[in-house]
Amino acid sequence: MIIDGKKEAEILRHEIKKEISLLKGKINKVPSLSVILVGNYTPSEIYVKNKVKKSKEVGINSDVIRYPDDVSEKEILRKIIELNEDSEVSGILVQLPLPKQINKEKIINLIHPSKDVDGFHPINVGNLASGYHAITPCTPLGCSLLIKKIEKDLTGKHAVIVGRSNLNGKPMAQLLLKENCTVTIVHSKTKNIKAECLKADILVVAIGVPNFVKKDWVKEDSIIIDVGINKVENKIVGDVKFEDVKEKVKAITPVPGGVGPMTIACLLKNTLECFKARLI
Ligand code: NAP
Repeated sequence: MIIDGKKEAEILRHEIKKEISLLKGKINKVPSLSVILVGNYTPSEIYVKNKVKKSKEVGINSDVIRYPDDVSEKEILRKIIELNEDSEVSGILVQLPLPKQINKEKIINLIHPSKDVDGFHPINVGNLASGYHAITPCTPLGCSLLIKKIEKDLTGKHAVIVGRSNLNGKPMAQLLLKENCTVTIVHSKTKNIKAECLKADILVVAIGVPNFVKKDWVKEDSIIIDVGINKVENKIVGDVKFEDVKEKVKAITPVPGGVGPMTIACLLKNTLECFKARLI
């Protein structure tokens, strides 16, 4: 089975749109997302454009605050304080990467955890690791929603995650642990990654190495989630050799059209959650 991330994201966005419309009818307010974009790095421009477009479609107000590449760290920090204090702002997103003169850690740590739609603030990271309610990074959240569409109860499943980034691998592991999976994380220093992958009932690959996982690395009846986005000869491919692997496994996400669309839909979901939390 090919997991249709585009369709699942559309369903999720439809649910979000419906909820926002209901809330608007009741309280005459809608969520609002502020995006800070520094410089003119083309992939960031494309991501932000897409985030704004999809926000609008579901009824979220979005505001892009642009800065030139040589903006000072102080200026960004000042803006974040302003957005933190603005009761009309539900969520704050700082598009990464940032130029060298800006300390990413300082920026992330200053965003109020209740407005941290990316789920990168240490408070949200800690809450997720503790199994508490947390704003969860959008890509792993999207992956877990896709996995749960295939298999409702993940109890006792062996999940193997390839990659240990703060963005993907680590939060993915926490989410699957919460679902009672037995979780193994492998990374660039792991010996015999193939042997680990072969144990996986659920395999999530997030490393950025094209076609890394091959057909003889996966079990029949496994679920494969490919987070990777790699450009090879003007084509976008994932971290899994899709054409071969798809023949063998129970379910697999394609690239493009798998995890990617769910990431943006989950950003909208997080923005709505932040908005609702402020209404209480
Ligand atoms: P990252 O921060 O660069 O982390 C990569 C991870 O992969 C690291 O933990 C690294 O291990 C591991 N790794 C690299 N090469 C490896 C190898 N040969 N064998 C085993 N492990 C290896 O990357 P990221 O931000 O998590 O992104 C990963 C991929 O996902 C990229 O292709 C990115 O474009 C894509 N992505 C997709 C979405 C989406 O919406 N679909 C969202 C975000 C990212 P070490 O820690 O040992 O260095």
